[in-house]
Amino acid sequence: MTLLPGSTIGMLGGGQLGRMFTVAARTLGYRVIILEPDFQSPAAQLADDHLIAAYDDETALAAFGQRCDVITTEFENIPAQTLEFLAQFCPVRPSAHAVQMAQDRRVEKEFVRACGLLPVPFAAIHTVADILAAPSSIQFPAILKTARMGYDGKGQMTVHSVAEAEAAFAQLGGVACVLEQRVELACEISVILARSVGGEVRCFPVAENEHRNGILHQSIVPARVDAALAQAAQAAATRLADKLDFVGVMAVEFFVTRQGELLVNEMAPRTHNSGHYTLDACVTSQFEQQVRMVCELPFGDTRLLSPVVMVNMLGDLWHDTHPDWLALLQSPKTKLHLYGKHEARPGRKMGHYCTLASELDEALVAADRIFQQLQ
Ligand code: ADP
Ligand code: MG
Repeated sequence: MTLLPGSTIGMLGGGQLGRMFTVAARTLGYRVIILEPDFQSPAAQLADDHLIAAYDDETALAAFGQRCDVITTEFENIPAQTLEFLAQFCPVRPSAHAVQMAQDRRVEKEFVRACGLLPVPFAAIHTVADILAAPSSIQFPAILKTARMGYDGKGQMTVHSVAEAEAAFAQLGGVACVLEQRVELACEISVILARSVGGEVRCFPVAENEHRNGILHQSIVPARVDAALAQAAQAAATRLADKLDFVGVMAVEFFVTRQGELLVNEMAPRTHNSGHYTLDACVTSQFEQQVRMVCELPFGDTRLLSPVVMVNMLGDLWHDTHPDWLALLQSPKTKLHLYGKHEARPGRKMGHYCTLASELDEALVAADRIFQQLQ
């Protein structure tokens, strides 16, 4: 059933993705209630209401569920049980099943394989013996990653030998991990897509992503890859969404190897940092599209209106004071987005900006000049 403006959307998680969703939803006239344990949250500042509770607090969840017409998420590590519990009150989109698939790198990579796509060569590591038994397809250097809860390059260590892998496994606390081949990358790309309750899919234009220290630095759109590769990535992401029976907005990150192979890196069952460019450069943003999907509205147009470079602003740019905002704001084709986080910490995502230009090269140069000025 279509939920019209005036309906109430519940959002699990109160970070920047929830904040930008809240802006899109409230612009369309929906009410938004955030459930998030932290009392200071970027999304709650702008929402109609904020329930401060743990994700496993069933009393709070029941109160939340009773007030919402539909519930969605901005955080992939919401326990599947929470999503299942909430589903007794109203539709939860995406489902517990779809979200769960992206919570554990082992499950995710097996799923990618089962869909006939290629993950990065990997081995599941539960004990030291698994490191010794890792298949010969994984050569050193390799990357040991915790199976769960990693983000922005956290919980990952590059290792050059079995001995280093053993030490890294101990350092990561002996928790379940994957040992992954470190791939020689030509580039990284991502696909953000929306899938409706009826199973229709619309992809946004492919983004080319540059990471620094495991954290996204900038997204460049359109991606500088050939059209066939971009289409293959969109087709692969669509297949994953179909097999998950996904409803909402999701993202798939890909590696393009030096040999031109397309490997699936990981999936996110939510809007994605590499889709922030859609806020300023597409007819419809990824956040509006999420509103549309969870409320069973028609798709918004995903067309790109201008070449764009989106640059993340990490807490590292905050020294004793704020960065020089005027250096940024004096560029008339640059759009600033700040997330309302009170404390700047190194590596913490504080905001981003999008620089538009009629030519992509021009946008790249201008975005980089601004980044230098913000240092
Ligand atoms: P996170 O969940 O922290 O985003 P990712 O697995 O996406 O974790 O890793 C973050 C970044 O680290 C990637 O976008 C890529 O730049 C680099 N990276 C991760 N795994 C590999 C790999 N196997 N080979 C080469 N680079 C990698
Ligand atoms: Mg990633």
